Amino acid sequence: MAVMRIRPGREKSLLRRHPWVFSGAVAKVCGDPQAGETVRIEASDGSFLAWGAYSPHSQIQARVWTWDEGEKVDAGFFRRRLCAALALRQALIPAGETSAERLVHGESDGLPGLVVDRYGDTLVAQFLSSGSEYWRSTLADLLVELSAAERLFERSDVDVRRLEGLPERVCPVRGDEPPDPLEIVENGLRFQVGVRGGHKTGCYLDQRRNRKRVRELAQGREVLDCFCYTGGFSTYALAGGATAVIAVDSSADALAAARANIELNGFPVDKVTFVEADVFKYLRTLRDQGRSFDMIILDPPKFAQTAAQAQRAARGYKDINLLALKLLRPGGMLVTFSCSGGVTADLFQKIVAGAALDSGREALIVEHLQQGPDHPVALNFPEGAYLKGLVVRVSS
Ligand code: SAH
Repeated sequence: MAVMRIRPGREKSLLRRHPWVFSGAVAKVCGDPQAGETVRIEASDGSFLAWGAYSPHSQIQARVWTWDEGEKVDAGFFRRRLCAALALRQALIPAGETSAERLVHGESDGLPGLVVDRYGDTLVAQFLSSGSEYWRSTLADLLVELSAAERLFERSDVDVRRLEGLPERVCPVRGDEPPDPLEIVENGLRFQVGVRGGHKTGCYLDQRRNRKRVRELAQGREVLDCFCYTGGFSTYALAGGATAVIAVDSSADALAAARANIELNGFPVDKVTFVEADVFKYLRTLRDQGRSFDMIILDPPKFAQTAAQAQRAARGYKDINLLALKLLRPGGMLVTFSCSGGVTADLFQKIVAGAALDSGREALIVEHLQQGPDHPVALNFPEGAYLKGLVVRVSS
């Protein structure tokens, strides 16, 4: 069995059960393991710390599978972890109203480098690390068996694969090609999802609860949905009784999909204006036109991957939040998000507070939002909490 020996004093994060071993903490690797193979991770005195998957090409040189010295990493191990992940979802998401959910959320489910989403009877997986890649075939068999899905499709076309020295891969793994788009139900609403080419594994399942919240708050409101993608928030706003919606995105394809989703639910498309534009510029256009709204949603893409990029990201967030706050009528609501891992919830709140101050508007946080419960956060892996949102009410 190959061994990864940790430098003296560098075992602290492992003792706190953080599942990543950075290359700087590694003294040596003995036994010539291949990428993805299980290594015994040891402290400098040779005592056992964890069993982990070896990633020779990444800054993260190992990801922990288990802290239990007596637990063997084999098909039985993955069966137990996947059963636990599936049982958690069954307990969290009521059957019937929703057919799409995240089944496996990587590190938080004790399965580093593995993401699996379910869209009805189709599973879409991302194998993001050497470890999950090494066990790909075992994982695929187990996933199909345990979920009783008809097919498993792979969407490993993500940048992090490059850091692991792995090629991108998009293809069916078990079963046939999925329908494209396929249709899901979410909180009773219907959506078409392109699992072959859509963002992430097809759509943003992490916003499910927050979309529902928008439906509950949208009654009688004129809504501006910025970065609308395939129209999730716009559709929910209409379902909740919004009087009119402007849906903005820089992608014409996304806007076409948004229109299709609104029509699919039988909502009047004439209440919706689809605008292909850069949100940063369009908010300024609306300001110059003297427009105003009762609800503005800001759900931009990731501006910062790491804490080091947080400064630049902060300027972007402040800019759009400041402009949006100025466009709200008294009593209006700003529903604003950041999915940047490098921007903490605390920092995000400070940015929005700075925007409120500069906008001259009096504003209250009435709600804190986060990723849904099928994207849990292991307490020993705080990096898992990436999506944060605020509902801010402007009073004057
Ligand atoms: N709110 C969506 C997800 C948003 S994803 C949902 O719940 O499904 C981010 C979207 O922002 C993408 O559709 C992308 O095309 C768009 N985008 C990125 N930069 C943009 C910009 N500067 N202006 C407008 N849209 C942008």
